[in-house]
Amino acid sequence: MLMRTVNALHRLQAGSYLLWLGAAMVCSALAVAAEPRPLVIAHRGASGYLPEHTLAAKAYAHALCADFIEQDLVLTKDDVPVVLHDIYLDTVSDVATRFPDRKRADGRYYALDFTLAEIKQLRVAERFNAKTGAPVYAKRYASAASPSEFRVSTLEEELQLIQGLNRSTGRHAGIYPEIKQPTWHREQGREISKIVLPILARYGYAGKDAPCFLQCFELTEVRRIRRELGWQGRIVMLLNARGKERDGVDHDRLCTAAGIKEIAEVADGIGPAIGRVVTWTATGERKVSDLVKLAHEAKLVVHGYTIRLDELPKGCPGSDELHAALFRGAGVDGMFSDFTDVTLAWLKK
Ligand code: CA
Repeated sequence: MLMRTVNALHRLQAGSYLLWLGAAMVCSALAVAAEPRPLVIAHRGASGYLPEHTLAAKAYAHALCADFIEQDLVLTKDDVPVVLHDIYLDTVSDVATRFPDRKRADGRYYALDFTLAEIKQLRVAERFNAKTGAPVYAKRYASAASPSEFRVSTLEEELQLIQGLNRSTGRHAGIYPEIKQPTWHREQGREISKIVLPILARYGYAGKDAPCFLQCFELTEVRRIRRELGWQGRIVMLLNARGKERDGVDHDRLCTAAGIKEIAEVADGIGPAIGRVVTWTATGERKVSDLVKLAHEAKLVVHGYTIRLDELPKGCPGSDELHAALFRGAGVDGMFSDFTDVTLAWLKK
């Protein structure tokens, strides 16, 4: 049944305008009949269908009825926050052919070394391996070699798009911005949070009840955002799959009862990697950890990452089983998904 739905949705993508209208109507009908259910966060937009973090991927995520749409944020040379998953440009754009002499000694092209005007010259493609040129997800939108008119967008351009769609469709999607690598930015002499927060505030996202969750992998930065920069909005502390983050904080320790209490002093929720919540043994047996229980006892919401139909966790038998384990087995309050429509369809069953 699910596969039939997925196939039908894939076929529908071809008739984009009709789908757009249809989705807008479906979304508003749902809004009327809305009841509390876990949130679906469009991970890098509708990244299962269009190149991640492009405005096209964000518009499509909105049309697919995502509750929240994610923005990963890094700074340009002229201190403009742009929406990119990595501090690098070379795995999602043609920077290496357009600016071949602008790489650092490690061979990588950093967004921080380019002005916004330069970054705007780049063509964005489906994520690919910078060494081989092969797409990371073979069945997605297009291979890296395909030319496209997609561009890197600024945080403000994306907020304008989402707020415009909120207005024109009457269905309100929230935002889910991530401060990327604050320690690294500081090592480069930049203060990314100090630049991003005033922009979010200017667009109406600063309050506790605003449709916004701010996210970060570094606890030291989450503390700073709350205590020194005085951010009143909701913050989600991201938890990696294993080990220490760049600020030296050990996430294995943060996933204990004591660690969760520490997070609860400054954050409203946690965003754990799926493997912190549920795993499967070699024989296909499901193991749910106590992390969601610990978080709920500390009054933290749990939004896990990431549901990918084409990259299931090790040993997980299928998409249905993955959704069931997370929402029914573990009781998460939301999930980041590359496939907003599939996750929403599962929740509505
Ligand atoms: Ca992210």
